[in-house]
Amino acid sequence: MTDNLSVFIAKSDVKAHDLEHKRKISFNIQKYNDSVVKGKKQFTDLEAARKKAKNIKWKAIENLDKYLENFEQNFTARGGKVIWAETVEEAQQAVLQICKEKNARQVVKSKSMVTEEIHLNTFLAQHNIESVETDLGEYIQQLDGEAPYHIVTPAMHKSKEDVARVFQEKLGTLPNLSPAELTQVARTNLREKYQTAEIGITGGNFLLADIGAVCVTENEGNGRLTTAFPKTHIAIVGIEKVLPSVNDLQLMWPLLATFGTGQNVTVYNTIFTGPRQAGENDGPDEMYVILLDNGRTNLLRKEVRESMYCIRCGSCLNACPVYKNIGGHAYGTTYSGPIGSVITPHMRGMEEYKHLSYASTLCGNCTEVCPVKINIHGMLLENRNIAVAEGLNTTKENMAWKLWRTGMMNRTIMNLAPAGLKTKLANKVFNDTWVKDRAALQFAPKSFNQLWKERK
Ligand code: SF4
Repeated sequence: MTDNLSVFIAKSDVKAHDLEHKRKISFNIQKYNDSVVKGKKQFTDLEAARKKAKNIKWKAIENLDKYLENFEQNFTARGGKVIWAETVEEAQQAVLQICKEKNARQVVKSKSMVTEEIHLNTFLAQHNIESVETDLGEYIQQLDGEAPYHIVTPAMHKSKEDVARVFQEKLGTLPNLSPAELTQVARTNLREKYQTAEIGITGGNFLLADIGAVCVTENEGNGRLTTAFPKTHIAIVGIEKVLPSVNDLQLMWPLLATFGTGQNVTVYNTIFTGPRQAGENDGPDEMYVILLDNGRTNLLRKEVRESMYCIRCGSCLNACPVYKNIGGHAYGTTYSGPIGSVITPHMRGMEEYKHLSYASTLCGNCTEVCPVKINIHGMLLENRNIAVAEGLNTTKENMAWKLWRTGMMNRTIMNLAPAGLKTKLANKVFNDTWVKDRAALQFAPKSFNQLWKERK
């Protein structure tokens, strides 16, 4: 058993039995579900919209090389700088290099899962550079020393009382402040940081190839402040975020908002086309875009290619019965839930993370709710298949399945023993493997073969 697997099982076990955790998650997911129903009403033909969105992403990913180069050409034509980072280390070093050039001791950051992926805050802290989260949820998580719990709502697992406790412990505020008062505290603290930080760092929800731009979607305005005050803006974006054209936003923006938070459109949607131009009042002196691969090109293999269509709306997490039971932290990965279980084994190693593809009931709810119609549960099965084909199962498990297959494929063997004995034997064969962390196997009292004979 790998370390990751044992940690995953141990954490899942704790969370699955934590009723208070379940209560908070159910409450917050229910609020989300209610909003999404309303948000969906803005589409006259939602199915057509989802199909169109899938086609747009299909086109983008099938021509990824071309669109990324188009993006680079158009972005650099307006004075922006593009850095290609193949690994976490390359991305970290690129940011550090810029920080050194600007003598930066402090950066402000808007919410970005890619910066979580490259562990940017920890890395910068090691180089004595303070990185301050400015999204309220991320700010709470940073204060509490925790990673985001959910890709869209980082502090989803915390109640307002939990947040008040964190503020009291870390900032010395009065106990039991109301949500409005807590927000005011965060706002006051962050306003100061925006003004003193030398660099603003964001992610990017979309890259636009035809006009060479980065789009940032957010609800609090912190992304705009992050990019308005500091003289340098760095956007770190995964290469799969590219869209062919600015025209695609008319569909992608409302779709992301509806499936992400149930809104018609997110409050602040900004298109950054580069640094401030001559004659313009706003914008940074310099703007960099770091295009991150970090295993994404592994996802281009045909079995899981669709996973690159993901717009990170978080909808599949909210719909997943496993996620709702074990929560976002048990996965031990940046991207949790169904889509995280599909992509992480390819991005971080099949052997170390293949277990995530088994942590699914295969109910298909994730596939059903995905705005870009990604066949998520189908790809979880593909991952299991890939893991077996790569010989990553233990010899014990392979032997057990071999025996199972021999028995199941032979009518005479299946008819030899009664159900009770077959149940006993099967559970013995899978004792150390399949049934170790699952309910025991149970043969029906009568096989289909018997029932069929009796019917005749
Ligand atoms: S896989 Fe689909 S539902 Fe899940 S986060 Fe990505 S776009 Fe949203």
